[in-house]
Amino acid sequence: MTLFDRIAFSAAPERLDGDVVWFLFRDGRLLLPEDPGQGLLPAFPARFLDPELEAQEQHYLGRLDEQHCCAVAVPEHLELPGMVEEDMRRVLVQLDEAQYAMLSRAAQALSWRRNHRYCSCCGEQTRPHDNDWAMVCPACGYTQYPRITPCVIMLVTRGDKALLARSARFPEGLFSCLAGFMEAGESAEHAVAREVHEETGIRVRNLRYFGSQSWPFPHSLMLGFHAEYDGGEIVVDDDEIVEAHWFDADSLPRVPPRGSIARSLIESWRASL
Ligand SMILES: [Zn+2]
Repeated sequence: MTLFDRIAFSAAPERLDGDVVWFLFRDGRLLLPEDPGQGLLPAFPARFLDPELEAQEQHYLGRLDEQHCCAVAVPEHLELPGMVEEDMRRVLVQLDEAQYAMLSRAAQALSWRRNHRYCSCCGEQTRPHDNDWAMVCPACGYTQYPRITPCVIMLVTRGDKALLARSARFPEGLFSCLAGFMEAGESAEHAVAREVHEETGIRVRNLRYFGSQSWPFPHSLMLGFHAEYDGGEIVVDDDEIVEAHWFDADSLPRVPPRGSIARSLIESWRASL
């Protein structure tokens, strides 16, 4: 089955029936069943929720493998027996492509609704659009759609060596591909060349688009590229990047986990050698 067969970002039905995959979040962390036997994204009956939780706003997300999906922000004080908090990063990389998409959508739905309660033009309180994923201002009509922020992520290679770098934010010993936000007016290709040069002083050529991945921290869309070395010596910017080196394909440092686009870029390059 393809991704399109498994996922439908459809409008909310009149009423929820059958089992529902509930994406429960508390303070940015995902709540999952304590019992790992239930799986990472188990479905529960539509009436499963605590009455207090049912009173909260629920964000209908669509269907995953024919099951309805909803995101709910769980209040701080509400205890949910049998559920434990998990880091969403750890969960995301264990999911398949369709589950990943729906979890990413759930996290972004909650942060978007929380951050768009007022009109950014006139300051009036907004309300959900009747049949679109948008928040509408009743005073001036301005419509706010979920924000998606494009970023580029690129693996720069030079024969059997790859340029990997460490950000000060990374866990000790972890290296990854270079990455950065796109600027207004830029093409993705321009952003790749600019980011690589800004962060490491290296020039690149022969860019090849690899693929993309939603990254809900908080609303990035990662556009992945392969790029070849075209000149320059490594000079790290010491701002975003604290260390960068050329690594041999057969002696790479610790890199991001499987399921991340950074890892996929690295694996596809190694497979091509
Ligand atoms: Zn307005």
